[in-house]
Amino acid sequence: MSQINRRDFLKTLAATSSASVLSVPAAHAAAKSKAKVVVVGGGFGGATAAKYLRMIDPGIEVTLIERNTSYTSCPLSNEVISGHRDIATLQTGYTGLRKHGVNVVHDEVVGIDPARKLVKTKSGKGFAYDSLVLSPGVDFDYAAVEGYSEAAAEKMPHAYKAGPQTLLLKKQLEAMKDGGTFIIAVPPGPFRCPPGPYERAAQVASYLKHHGKAKSKVLILDANDSFSKKGLFEQAWRELYGYGPGGMIEWVPGAADGKVVKVDAQTLTCYTGFGEHKGDVVNVIPPHHAGKVAKDLGLATFKNKWCEAKAETMESKGLADVYVIGDSCVGGDLPTNNAFPKSAHMAMTQAKVAVGAIVAKVNGLPNPVPYYVNTCYSVVAPDYGFSVVHIYKVENGTWIYVKEASGISPVTMPDKSPVPKVYRKLEAEYADGWLRNVMADAFA
Ligand SMILES: Cc1cc2nc3c(=O)[nH]c(=O)nc-3n(C[C@H](O)[C@H](O)[C@H](O)COP(=O)(O)OP(=O)(O)OC[C@H]3O[C@@H](n4cnc5c(N)ncnc54)[C@H](O)[C@@H]3O)c2cc1C
Repeated sequence: MSQINRRDFLKTLAATSSASVLSVPAAHAAAKSKAKVVVVGGGFGGATAAKYLRMIDPGIEVTLIERNTSYTSCPLSNEVISGHRDIATLQTGYTGLRKHGVNVVHDEVVGIDPARKLVKTKSGKGFAYDSLVLSPGVDFDYAAVEGYSEAAAEKMPHAYKAGPQTLLLKKQLEAMKDGGTFIIAVPPGPFRCPPGPYERAAQVASYLKHHGKAKSKVLILDANDSFSKKGLFEQAWRELYGYGPGGMIEWVPGAADGKVVKVDAQTLTCYTGFGEHKGDVVNVIPPHHAGKVAKDLGLATFKNKWCEAKAETMESKGLADVYVIGDSCVGGDLPTNNAFPKSAHMAMTQAKVAVGAIVAKVNGLPNPVPYYVNTCYSVVAPDYGFSVVHIYKVENGTWIYVKEASGISPVTMPDKSPVPKVYRKLEAEYADGWLRNVMADAFA
């Protein structure tokens, strides 16, 4: 492939999430490079990075280190809680990545020595790298909510890392009596999937409505005063389940004493500044920070919680040749309040930007000019969904939110008439298609 074509391709790469363009470089990739890249974390970000590195430059040796042998997608896991989806549809192994020539190692990374460029694992192995991609997701700050802990999460599940916690919350919901209260405690932002708790409220309400428990209540105790897609959620809650006084769903913002500061896992009680709320099922989502492995490396320099990366490459601002992607990092247009949402789609875009930068560097090419894309669907009933799209460009080393290219599903039609139901139905279908596409793009 000529340098011009390759450069053009790399530009395209960062702006797209379509796997179809990849057949071009794969056929022509220069096999000369023998660079070693280690990827830590085999979630949406890490899996995408590992796969695309191999597809674009098969000369690069890629090792992916992931502690679990299978991955469960958080996206659409709220549908598992309501019984609208089988958790198996969200699960995948790592055979697909192995087929791309990724050396997949199931182990836990316990330390990184950036001076020696070495990753150390729990089983005592060491992996040398020229470039390191870190995508360890988030870890929870249990201590931020008095009385909450990993043990307490067995009584008051967070269900914010999909898997056994999701199934536990589902089981508790199924066992809840009619007339009971399901509490969702939302932490201060930023947290992964900004619309996640509110989509969950709708899915829980959907279960209650259709399983003879319509006298029950979903109480959202929120540390924040607003939330993602608020107008759309409130409209849907009102239409489908009843919202506000007398309705099934109630939302208490931070300004109205919604922030949960303490819990009692024995009595299933949440304490806010002045109030006390006893639930029958209590879903406590604790505050998050960058994955421990990135934090331990001293990379969580933003508010001591999140890692900072360069806009052109996703290379860490703190360490050369270390690329921090996904939920662990902060980015976006912070001055205009348009930070990157912590989403699977964004993690995958960031992965592709890091891949573009690494491949360019290894092959002595100019760094491609990236665009960043996020899409996020929320499904509030089997036939009712909506979405948001965020686009960012990079200028002078910083991210600029491109408002004109971004968008959100409308609350009403331009003439203020209601949005036809078929639009909401189609978006619920698109959400399912989106999930199947991103799972295939990252893991297959
Ligand atoms: C309820 C819910 C709903 C969501 N819905 C959506 C949605 O609709 N759309 C969307 O785009 N996003 C959604 N998200 C967000 C999405 O799940 C995350 O943004 C995405 O998973 C981030 O990818 P990541 O690679 O950064 O982290 P993860 O996907 O969490 O992957 C991190 C991986 O790193 C591994 N790991 C961590 N530390 C180590 C270590 N030391 N050694 C080895 N392995 C390690 C972990 O085991 C894990 O597999 C949702 C999240 C939740 C909780």
